[in-house]
Amino acid sequence: MTAIVVVEDEPDIADLLALYFRREGWTVHLAPDGAVGLEAIRARNPDFVVLDVGLPGELDGFDVCRQLRQTSDVPVLFLTARDDEVDRILGLEMGADDYVTKPFSPREIVARIKAVLRRGRSAGNGTRADYGEVTVDLERREVRTGGEPVPLATQEWALLEALIGNEGIALSRQQLLDLAWGPDWIGDPRTVDVHVRQLRRKLGDDLPLATVRGVGYRLG
Ligand code: CA
Repeated sequence: MTAIVVVEDEPDIADLLALYFRREGWTVHLAPDGAVGLEAIRARNPDFVVLDVGLPGELDGFDVCRQLRQTSDVPVLFLTARDDEVDRILGLEMGADDYVTKPFSPREIVARIKAVLRRGRSAGNGTRADYGEVTVDLERREVRTGGEPVPLATQEWALLEALIGNEGIALSRQQLLDLAWGPDWIGDPRTVDVHVRQLRRKLGDDLPLATVRGVGYRLG
């Protein structure tokens, strides 16, 4: 059963969320401040945390998330009241999985939580690929080397995705163009070479991207 901890100091909001969550058949535990919230999360090991940013006491939502992230990767959805809080969530890579701005509709939150839980469940089913220091999360469209995020251009992503989807198979430049650029794209097949070079430069030798003479490229 899905268990959710809601850290929110406004009782009306907490109760409303609890009502909607319980209707989904989820177990809900409410915490009125950051310290109680952290304790509840550690004790209950929930599937999901809804975390208000503006909390009374010593720990605000950001502090709670930071502390939580040292030991846990439980999905976190932030509730925010102000735009500058959103800026901080986005800017500081707080480790949040999503956020909603107040006032919100509880239905929307339920939908967001379901989406994040679905994403989490599919994560074990081939949406991640690891090559030494290189980690690719296809669902989140995120690639890291040695834990550090590496920004990729849209076409670099598309090419990497095509290669991962055909791991172990040598693909011609034309096949890669069809897969990553789409069959309608018209241009020089050497475009593929340019993007392969970029991927190698950005992701390093751990990415097992081989040139197959007379054919094209193969990953793995
Ligand atoms: Ca609050």
